[in-house]
Amino acid sequence: MYDVASSKAEEFISHDEIMDTLAYAEANKHNRELLDSILAKAATYKGLNHREAAVLLVCDLPEYKEKLFNLAIEIKRKIYGDRVVLFAPLYLSNYCINGCVYCPYHSKNRHIKRKKLTQDQIRQEVMALEAMGHKRIVIESGEDPLNNPLDYILDSIKTIYSIKNKHGEIRRVNVNIAACEVEDYKKLHEAGIGTYTLFQETYNKKNYESLHPTGPKSNYAYHTEAMDRAMQGGIDDVGIGVLYGLEHYKYDFVGLLMHAEHLEAKFGVGPHTISVPRICPADDIEVGDFSNAVPDDIFEKIVALIRVSTPYTGMIMSTRESQRMRERGLALGISQISGASRTSVGGYAKEELPEDNSAQFDRSDCRTLDEIVEWILDLGYVPSFCTACYRAGRTGDRFMPLAKSGEISNCCQPNALMTLNEYLLDYASDKTRKTGEAVIKEQLEEIKNQKVKQMAHEYIQQMEHGERDFRF
Ligand code: SF4
Ligand code: SF4
Repeated sequence: MYDVASSKAEEFISHDEIMDTLAYAEANKHNRELLDSILAKAATYKGLNHREAAVLLVCDLPEYKEKLFNLAIEIKRKIYGDRVVLFAPLYLSNYCINGCVYCPYHSKNRHIKRKKLTQDQIRQEVMALEAMGHKRIVIESGEDPLNNPLDYILDSIKTIYSIKNKHGEIRRVNVNIAACEVEDYKKLHEAGIGTYTLFQETYNKKNYESLHPTGPKSNYAYHTEAMDRAMQGGIDDVGIGVLYGLEHYKYDFVGLLMHAEHLEAKFGVGPHTISVPRICPADDIEVGDFSNAVPDDIFEKIVALIRVSTPYTGMIMSTRESQRMRERGLALGISQISGASRTSVGGYAKEELPEDNSAQFDRSDCRTLDEIVEWILDLGYVPSFCTACYRAGRTGDRFMPLAKSGEISNCCQPNALMTLNEYLLDYASDKTRKTGEAVIKEQLEEIKNQKVKQMAHEYIQQMEHGERDFRF
């Protein structure tokens, strides 16, 4: 029985409702009147529910795909402007007791090098990240109560926030660790984390169980209900996503939107971010082993549809994707990307030897952060290292009204320019600095609120004298 506000995974992600939705979408995929009305609703920036979005997903009429893409581009521009937020993952440990068949960290993989960073090694990793210019990271760890207990994660967060390297500091630590108890989430919240992210991998329970044959993660309900427990523990910025390629994309797309609707119905605030990881090669993992691999054109459509369905939810694309796909993603709705990522444990401070491979996946985009920043500027966007909202207490239901009214852009725009300026002063190459300075000069003039404009000008001048970390 489908119940959007239920506490039970199998009720808020009802298999029957997903199958009914897909049948409804198939029956209506050429119903132009319905398709037009769905697009008209999306054009009001109110988002789409899973049934409406599914009709557009299944529709194969080229003109509707074009209309969808144009609308996604418009919504992205209107809500997120030119800003692209940058972050990097930090892998703490690849010890894991789970048996996820798509991940090289699965417990039966004997040829991957197992590593866990000590607090001192974390310090070195953070120094290396700060030396690049990163301000926002997401920590990643396998699930292993002996090697990576929660206390280890909490100690690591404390270490990360404590490292100041000249002007460098990590100002927001997001966390991507296994599902845990409400009490654990409370501790993570108290440790000052930004977003808690946990990918569902797939919403299809039967498939989920065969992809997760062993370990605590094999419990579908416990995993699917994790975000409810995180919210109960006080974390109101949560990030969701599926790993495209594990299940048929149509099923998981509908499940993903149902999950977002559930969080909104039960807690009054939907997910803060949606990520779009797609399965890619890794040690012991071949993409060809997964028959549901999603081709680029469908993947683009998924990105566009998530953007129009959840206009105020940030969207993240990692270095799993190529430069070309990330460029396309940025146009269609992606608001955050990782840059210069290392997907191995300890990969920032020291380049890994091939025989020491501890990476979770092979990167398709291996450029340096400076190259990424320059590329973003060349594309006409503004790279942003902003971390202001969670530090100003603008999270959960305090954040969403500001996002929905558009007021947040009064903060995002100057914050992007000021954090970009920090990057240019402290880390950029001459070429990137020159391009970036011209963009900042031009964009400062475009700030509509005169008071904000004047303050942003003043703050940027003060940065010339060594001051940092201004924010709205
Ligand atoms: Fe462990 Fe996560 Fe990899 Fe599964 S996906 S094996 S839980 S690290
Ligand atoms: Fe994100 Fe808030 Fe900064 Fe805008 S002001 S970029 S919403 S942290």
